[in-house]
Amino acid sequence: LFITFEGPEGAGKTTIIQKIAERFALENIDVLATREPGGIEIAEKIRTIILNPAHTAMDERTEALLYAAARSQHYFEKVRPALDAGRMVICDRFIDSSLAYQGYARGIGVDEVLSINEFAIGKKLPDITILFDLAPEVGLARIHAHGEREVNRLDVESLAFHDKVREGYLQLVERYPERIYVVNADQNIERVVEDVWSLLSEVMQ
Ligand code: C5P
Ligand code: MG
Repeated sequence: LFITFEGPEGAGKTTIIQKIAERFALENIDVLATREPGGIEIAEKIRTIILNPAHTAMDERTEALLYAAARSQHYFEKVRPALDAGRMVICDRFIDSSLAYQGYARGIGVDEVLSINEFAIGKKLPDITILFDLAPEVGLARIHAHGEREVNRLDVESLAFHDKVREGYLQLVERYPERIYVVNADQNIERVVEDVWSLLSEVMQ
């Protein structure tokens, strides 16, 4: 089973994924938790290129292609082999990030970004996607409050850009209603973890 977690900055994805992976492990489910962009050496290197705040000249097509390249390597080197071995894989961000950020918010087009990703990984989509929905103001305020995250190229983007990302994600829910489930991320982390856990328990029945 391939499960992906999606949503904006500061939604709590990284923390929640760890807690959910621990719960699966307690139930003796063999789970691999990983992240995008990154997860393996080549893709982590691509990540540093994409997110480098000095790379202000990066064209949005270059950005979309680099995400797809990182995804392809991560998918075929790490995700696919784990799924083939019967493991559960939980991934922090996946194709829907590209569709929402590059396709929708940057304006390349969701179908265009989908097609380069089909080249990168084939037509296979995640089995279940959890979308952490949150007003961008709230997520960005959380990031500033914590302050431990690395500075990245997205930090200069306006609230309007982040609003578009949210809108892009919500359009994906309409497009893939049988795959993407929305969780309200504007609650304390423990509460969100409970919501995700009960949702997954229900969906996986
Ligand atoms: O999820 P994480 O914080 O690791 O993402 C790193 C950065 O990359 C974030 O600022 C996120 O908004 C950005 N990103 C992006 N397009 C993607 C995936 C991530 O702009 N397709
Ligand atoms: Mg994170």
